[in-house]
Amino acid sequence: MQFPITNKFPNLNKQELFQKINDLKTCPLKNAGIKVVYPIGDGSSGVMLIGEAPGAKEDELGEPFVGASGKFLNNTLLPSVDLNRENIYLTNIVKCRPPLNRDPSEKEKLAWSEILLMEILTVKPKIIACLGRHSLSFFMPEAKISEVHGKVFEIEILKGLKQKVLPLYHPAVALYNPGMRPKLIEDFGVLKGFLG
Ligand code: URA
Repeated sequence: MQFPITNKFPNLNKQELFQKINDLKTCPLKNAGIKVVYPIGDGSSGVMLIGEAPGAKEDELGEPFVGASGKFLNNTLLPSVDLNRENIYLTNIVKCRPPLNRDPSEKEKLAWSEILLMEILTVKPKIIACLGRHSLSFFMPEAKISEVHGKVFEIEILKGLKQKVLPLYHPAVALYNPGMRPKLIEDFGVLKGFLG
């Protein structure tokens, strides 16, 4: 995605946004019959979290982050900053599960990118936390997560519209590298400082 975008985007309410997600015809996974895992949460805290793509558990239960990395997000990271699944808006770039949990492809990410912009424009978050490098690459294609994690950036997503973005390590990092847990918790704390 090249920012800033100059296209016009419709002003949608949540129901219209979900209809757009339902109607999307360009995702190869969706077209192959893989089900859509819809976003959850009302975003009333001002925080939007963007993951990569659903895994097996998410595909089974139909909600983002309900598997192993979701456990760390839901039980450790979110409570550490007094947030929960209801008051954030929790979504993924790609909303269908890539087979065998492979990384989402460029084509799949591109297919969903306009929807992601519509989600941002509908939810109007004070801050977006990108979970992992795929989510980060949407906003900052050149950035390395190891260099930018835990710092707030201002990205001009539409001409004249700036959005605060906080790159974070994906919660799955804590599962395969438990030594990183304190760093993930510390970075997540930036959200609390930001919201005040
Ligand atoms: N990882 C993600 O990026 N998203 C999910 O919904 C689950 C795991």
